[in-house]
Amino acid sequence: MNKHAKDTSKLTKNQSLVLEALSGARQPLGAYALLDRLRDEGFKAPLQVYRPLDQLAALGLVHRLESLNAWTVCCAESHQGTPIFAICNDCGMVTEHLDEQLSSTIEALPEMSGFVPDRSIVEIYGQCGECSDQ
Ligand SMILES: [Zn+2]
Ligand SMILES: [Zn+2]
Repeated sequence: MNKHAKDTSKLTKNQSLVLEALSGARQPLGAYALLDRLRDEGFKAPLQVYRPLDQLAALGLVHRLESLNAWTVCCAESHQGTPIFAICNDCGMVTEHLDEQLSSTIEALPEMSGFVPDRSIVEIYGQCGECSDQ
């Protein structure tokens, strides 16, 4: 495990602001929702949000939910494997899970099929515990 993964002291001001805004949100945020939250901090253009998001994603601090086109803070200290996101259809709550078996299956793809994965993310839709209770 890379113990520096959550070392946020080297982040730029914009990266820290974006990370903070995401941490404070209950749900994943799209770039424009983030921009709205950061207007008071002087953010004006989507690029001011996209660039830090790309960098934070590269550091493993945030993940991009492809189907929602939104970003969320990583739940873990640091992980190599494929994050699995359970997304509630009703309340929009998103929880992140890790599964070593799935991760090793994906890592074995080049050997099994010649396909070389670049990045991977799994998104599962359904109802969270709270919503399915009602
Ligand atoms: Zn994660
Ligand atoms: Zn729910």
